[in-house]
Amino acid sequence: MKYPDILERFLSYVKIDTQSSDTSETFPSTAKQKDLAANLKPELEALGLQDVQVTPWGYVLAAWPTNQKHKVPAIALIAHLDTSPDVSGAGVEPQLHKNYQGQDLVLSAGDSVVLKVAENPLLKEQIGKTIITASGNTLLGADDKAGIAEIMDALTYLAEHPEIPRPNIKIVFTPDEETGRGVEHISVFEIGAEIGYTVDGEHLGEIEDETFCADSLEIHVFGINVHPGMAKDKMVNAVKIAARIIEKLPKNALSPETTEKREGYVHPNQINGNVETATVKFIIRDFTKKGLKKSEKMIEKLTAKVTAQFPGAKSEVKVSESYRNMKVVLDKYPDVLAKAEQAVAMAGLKVLRSSIRGGTDGAKLCFMGLPTPNLFTGGHNFHSKQEWIALEDMRKASEVLVNLMKIWAE
Ligand SMILES: [Zn+2]
Repeated sequence: MKYPDILERFLSYVKIDTQSSDTSETFPSTAKQKDLAANLKPELEALGLQDVQVTPWGYVLAAWPTNQKHKVPAIALIAHLDTSPDVSGAGVEPQLHKNYQGQDLVLSAGDSVVLKVAENPLLKEQIGKTIITASGNTLLGADDKAGIAEIMDALTYLAEHPEIPRPNIKIVFTPDEETGRGVEHISVFEIGAEIGYTVDGEHLGEIEDETFCADSLEIHVFGINVHPGMAKDKMVNAVKIAARIIEKLPKNALSPETTEKREGYVHPNQINGNVETATVKFIIRDFTKKGLKKSEKMIEKLTAKVTAQFPGAKSEVKVSESYRNMKVVLDKYPDVLAKAEQAVAMAGLKVLRSSIRGGTDGAKLCFMGLPTPNLFTGGHNFHSKQEWIALEDMRKASEVLVNLMKIWAE
């Protein structure tokens, strides 16, 4: 049987609009994500996978029993169906820039969207490759349709080469990763694997095993409201207290706009209030729990100090846990990363280990009991009209997945 090539698969997936929505209360957040799910079902069946289903929640699940006699683990390969709510994914017109020669790429007719080498130094590593972009009006959707295409291509290769040992393979394509709700309606029991890998990263050869530790924090300030005409020595204005707290935050550190790499931050992202009460909402991020707690202590102290400057005022700080660095879990399963590194090296690539300044479905799965690091797709500039990926890097990602399956089966 002749199966579609990875390029053909990828181009067909990106043409289906699967944009998720931050504001929707349904699950999946948009029904159109199921359009792609529906197309993937027969493709998985054609490859010989079993128990292929699209669940009522929009997850695509499939299983492929091992071809080995000895006991092998079940490994889940995971990618997400949706694209970012930030940029339209409707009417994606993928463009192939063949035999790329290191030039800026003009994506839209009006020259308004240009992929510049100066801003994308990684383009210099792509000479001679085929770069795939959108046409300036939409994102491309390599995040994460490249991941889906790469998993499908690896399965294709394994189907065409039944002599290659493979473990029990579980396929999980999830809706709503971009809204942070991707694993809301699935359990580790349903996935049925001991180990998982999300294929949702970026640069060639990269393995991500760390995410932020994340909390949300709320400061509640209570003032005293009196008629402004008779307020002398009586009124305590909660709006002003909240403003002063924010004013006293570090200016050149500890914020999203002043940090990178492994630095954490405290980020006030919402404020509401009146004279009587005011609320400031924060998200707190750090790679360690210790750093997270330190930042939270800093805000607590600052809040108490400022409140004390306003006699009669009261305040409280509430912290709630969002998610934790998946490294805490992955450190207990050194094999999971060691085998991924081996698979990357077998493909002739340099292994890059990195951390994500955010969370992933994998981080949530780790804490649900499924150790799940993140593997590269080869894509770049996710969530933007300048999103791009090299076809050759997609082929490499597929090769790494085949290697990884082989390694787990041995
Ligand atoms: Zn993604």
